[in-house]
Amino acid sequence: MNCPSCNRLLYSRQHKTCGFCGSELPPEVLLSDDEVAAIKTEQAAIAIRRAKAKAKEEEEKRKQAASDGGFDILPMF
Ligand SMILES: [Zn+2]
Repeated sequence: MNCPSCNRLLYSRQHKTCGFCGSELPPEVLLSDDEVAAIKTEQAAIAIRRAKAKAKEEEEKRKQAASDGGFDILPMF
């Protein structure tokens, strides 16, 4: 999608004005509020998935370390 005024590529369709020439963009160029909300929801879901994957990876590492070598819990006196 390009700006109808300066014809440059629009990087974000969430802004109401062109980042290059500053002209107001027609509504058909912009994402609707619903679409913006959907994108934000999707981005949040991706972030959560990544965080979970990372947490799982860390846990696997911990398990690996624990099974590797004698991290037996010693009684503390
Ligand atoms: Zn423009």
